[in-house]
Amino acid sequence: MPKQRVVFAIDIGGTKIRGAVVSESGDILVRKDIPSQGEKGEPAAMKRLAALLHKMCADLPDTEPVGIGMAIAGTVDPETGLFSNPPNLPSWHGTVPSLDLGELLGLPSRVHNDASLAALGEYVFGIGQGTKSLVMITLGTGVGGGIVQDGHLYGGYRGYAGEIGHLIVDSSGPQCACGGRGHLEMMASGTACARIAKERLVAGEASLVTKLVRGDLEKVRAETLVKAEGLGDLLAGEVLRDAADYVGVAVATLRSILDPELIVIGGGVSRNLHLFFPRLVASAKAHAMDIDKESCPVVTTVLGDDAGLLGAAALAWEKLGE
Ligand SMILES: [Zn+2]
Repeated sequence: MPKQRVVFAIDIGGTKIRGAVVSESGDILVRKDIPSQGEKGEPAAMKRLAALLHKMCADLPDTEPVGIGMAIAGTVDPETGLFSNPPNLPSWHGTVPSLDLGELLGLPSRVHNDASLAALGEYVFGIGQGTKSLVMITLGTGVGGGIVQDGHLYGGYRGYAGEIGHLIVDSSGPQCACGGRGHLEMMASGTACARIAKERLVAGEASLVTKLVRGDLEKVRAETLVKAEGLGDLLAGEVLRDAADYVGVAVATLRSILDPELIVIGGGVSRNLHLFFPRLVASAKAHAMDIDKESCPVVTTVLGDDAGLLGAAALAWEKLGE
């Protein structure tokens, strides 16, 4: 009997590397995480990862790995695989993890950033199945995004398209780490929500948040605000609703420019999004053109934390189909 063709899907983050063996229909046959141990360098990590994947394959004797897809948190050139200025893996700057892993395993490999691949994952295996175009907004400690058009990731002229975290939602807003100003990431990411709440607490506003972190404002996180809001805290509720409003502004902008069939909201913060989803949709409609006010194609992720991993698998299969 011929062996089942599978790909290795890899999701590289600052603290852990997730590996999985994935079928052509997107079934995860086996999965395992290892710590990134970024300080020990990229070659050591790729060797550990290759050993892990060998072992995973040995446990699935009826499968034949035919390619590798890699999602990576940070700036990566999808053509060359070159990884640049990774904020969470600084010693990996200038390395090419996808090529190194491909050489160790003797398999073709492709790589893209994790937010773009989350979009591809939803498009191929998730809520976007059957659509022609999709935009994904990933709300976590930062804000990422990806654009899929006709089955392919849209990269733009230089490959930087889809930086939805750097859409301007408040032109007088604070400076962003990227050098711009008033970007979505500075107004609606988990980090931004915590920062805005902290600023208001330092200015003397009363809130349950102070009690929840026992007075240590450095410990304020988006999760703290969600908890406080659940207890009826006004300040926490305002900060989170403002964030939902800003995401709605971004949604309206994306619709005007791209007119996607679907806009998918994912990422860690989206776990609590049901609390603010109606607010987000109302904001998106309020800021939209008249023709976009009646309906709003915004949905939440169905793949959750696996969107990037399954996007990496989709990328590997796409390569094999060329
Ligand atoms: Zn920015």
